[in-house]
Order: sequence, then structure tokens, then C-alpha cells
Amino acid sequence: MSEQSCIFCSIIKGDIPSAKVYEDEHVYAFLDLSQVTKGHTLLIPKKHEQDIFHLEPETASRLFQAAPVVAKALDRAFVPAGLNVLNNNKEAAGQSVFHYHLHLIPRYDQSDGFQPTWVEHGGDYSQEELQQLAAEAASYI
Ligand code: 5GP
Ligand code: ZN
Repeated sequence: MSEQSCIFCSIIKGDIPSAKVYEDEHVYAFLDLSQVTKGHTLLIPKKHEQDIFHLEPETASRLFQAAPVVAKALDRAFVPAGLNVLNNNKEAAGQSVFHYHLHLIPRYDQSDGFQPTWVEHGGDYSQEELQQLAAEAASYI
């Protein structure tokens, strides 16, 4: 998805209306239309970068500096019991808008609309296998 056809770039420019929560020189935060839970907010960089694999260090730094600022505002405004931060990268992981974004999802209770499934497979790996996996990943850094 190019910058020209990007919904989030259009939102930043004001060509598509949005419910703005926060804005500074580098980032923009607005309510997600889907409102999975009350206050569900998207935090995006103003620079169009597709996903975490394309995110430049400077962009990531600006975005993650703003994340606690917005999270605290949501916490004060809606007094949730907790808050999930979610980021989908590539279609296979559920990404549908290809401009990097963090979902900030206030959590109220177990039936509030957000139900992450988390199946543990830790028992499938020995300590040695975990060390091998880590070493493999580390070799690419
Ligand atoms: P993804 O699936 O890429 O992680 O998340 C994209 C999110 O963007 C979805 O939760 C969807 O509801 C939201 N979204 C898509 N189009 C618009 C829009 O035009 N305005 C707003 N506020 N949210 C949008
Ligand atoms: Zn964009």
C-alpha cells in the first residue's frame, strides 16, 4: 500500500475525519472505528512506514515515547482495569492497514470484547532447544 492510497495517511492529512485523542509533530492517535472496547485507540507515526520490518529507529522511538502518554490518558478517562497494546504485522498476523500502528485496547473484564487466545507450547522445548532457537535469532541481529 503506497502513501497515496493509505487510509491512515489520509486521516493524518484530515482528508478522512477521525476522533483525535493526541497529536504531536511525529505521531497521531485516534479512536479505532471498530471500538473493540470503549476507548480502543490507534497510535500511528505520521511517517508512512508499512510494518515493524520497515519501521525506522527514529520513528519507533517517537511512537513509543508517545505510547505511555496516550495509555495514561485512556486510563484516566475510562478507568479500565488494564490495557493491551497490540500490533499486527503482515496480513498473516491480522494486519489490514499497512501503515504501522499500535492498538491501545483498554480492558474492563473478561467479556469486554477483546479475547486474545494464547496457547502455551513451552513444554514442547527443552532448555537446550530454547538456547538453540535464541542463538539462531541472535545470529541475525
Ligand atoms: P489492523 O487490522 O491493521 O491491525 O488494524 C487496522 C484498524 O484500523 C482496524 O481495527 C480498523 O477498525 C481500523 N480502521 C480502518 N479504517 C479506519 C478508518 O477509516 N478510521 C478509523 N478510525 N479506524 C479505521
Ligand atoms: Zn500511510
